[in-house]
Amino acid sequence: MNSLLHVSDIHCRSLFQQGSALFLILSTIILCCSQSVQATDQPPNDPIPMKYAIAIHGGAGRSPSEFDAASNAKRRASMEQALKIGVDILKAGGTSLDAVEGVVKFLEDDPQFNAGKGAVYNAAGGHELDASIMDGATLSCGAVAGVSHIKNPIRLARLVMTDTPHVLLSGKGAEDFGKLKQVDWVEPTYFDTPEAKASWELFLKSQPSLGAADSIRLCNPRWDVGTVGCVALDSKGNLAAATSTGGITHKQFGRVGDSPIVGAGTYADNQTCAVSGTGIGEQFIRFSIAYDIAAQIKYKGATLQAAVDDNLKNRLTAGDGGIIAIDKVGNITMGFNTGGMPRAAADSNGRHEVLWD
Ligand code: ASP
Repeated sequence: MNSLLHVSDIHCRSLFQQGSALFLILSTIILCCSQSVQATDQPPNDPIPMKYAIAIHGGAGRSPSEFDAASNAKRRASMEQALKIGVDILKAGGTSLDAVEGVVKFLEDDPQFNAGKGAVYNAAGGHELDASIMDGATLSCGAVAGVSHIKNPIRLARLVMTDTPHVLLSGKGAEDFGKLKQVDWVEPTYFDTPEAKASWELFLKSQPSLGAADSIRLCNPRWDVGTVGCVALDSKGNLAAATSTGGITHKQFGRVGDSPIVGAGTYADNQTCAVSGTGIGEQFIRFSIAYDIAAQIKYKGATLQAAVDDNLKNRLTAGDGGIIAIDKVGNITMGFNTGGMPRAAADSNGRHEVLWD
C-alpha cells in the first residue's frame, strides 16, 4: 500500500513538474507573441502624439493674382504673425479658446481684413460687425451681431458665452452689454479704411440700379477676401472655433450673416471637429454648413476631409466660400471653391504653413 502510494506520489510529482515546465514554456511563448504584437502596433518611427493643431483663414473670395505683389506679401506676413500668436499660446499649454480668440483679435485689429478695423461698408455707408466663438469641450458658445462700436467683436462674443446665459446678442443690446463689461469702445468711423470704401464705391458705380439684396450674388466672385476665422485643438484635447467679419459689401442694413450663427459659420464639438467658414453667409446658414460637417463625422463616420469636401461640392455652389476645420485628433482641412483664401496651419508634428498663392 505504502509502495503503491509512493509510486503514485512520484508519478504525481513528475506529472506536476512536467506541467510546470509546460506552463513555463507556454507563458514564455504567450509573452513573446504579445511583445511582437505590441511591436507591430507601434512601429518605432510613429509620429509623436499630437499635442496641438491650429488653422486660420483670412476670408474666401478673390484670387491673389487680382492683388499686387506688395499687398499679397503684407497679407501673408499678417497670416504668419497670426499663426505665431496661436502656436505660442498652444505650445505654452494654453487653451484652444484663448488661441482662437487671440488670433481673431489680432486679425480684427489689422485693417487688411474684413473684421474689426477694415470691415466692409453696408448699404447705409456704415459698418455692422458679427462674431462668434465656441468651446468644443462644453458646447458653450457666444456671438454678437450688428455691432458698430465694439473694437473687438470676438472679445464681446466670448463674454456673451461666459457671462450671460445666452448665445447671441445683437445691435444695441450687444453694445450695452459691451459697455457693462467695459470692452474697448470705438466710434463707428474707427472701422473706416480707404480700401473698404473703394470696394463699396466700385460696387455702387458698377451696379447703380441694384438694391442691397442683389449685392450678395453680384459681389460673388469678385468680393474681397477678409473675414477671419480660427480653429484649434489644445494639449488637453479641447477644440475651439472663432469667426469674425464685417459681412458683405453693400449688405442691407440689419443683415446678419453666418459668422455669428453657431452651426452655420462656426462650430466646435470635442466629439467631432471645430469649423470656421467664410463666404456667402446666406448659403452657410441655409445648409448649416459647420454643423453638417460635424454631423457627417458623428453620424456617418465620415473623415474630416470627406465631410468638408462634400459641403464645398454638394451643398455650396462654386464661388460660395471656404472652410477650415480640425478634427478631434488634429487632422486639418482647409478648402475653398472661390478664387482664393489666405490660410495658415500648424501642429505639434512640425506642420507649419502659410498659403496665399
Ligand atoms: N460669411 C461672411 C458673411 O456672409 C462674409 C465672408 O466670409 O466673406 O457675413
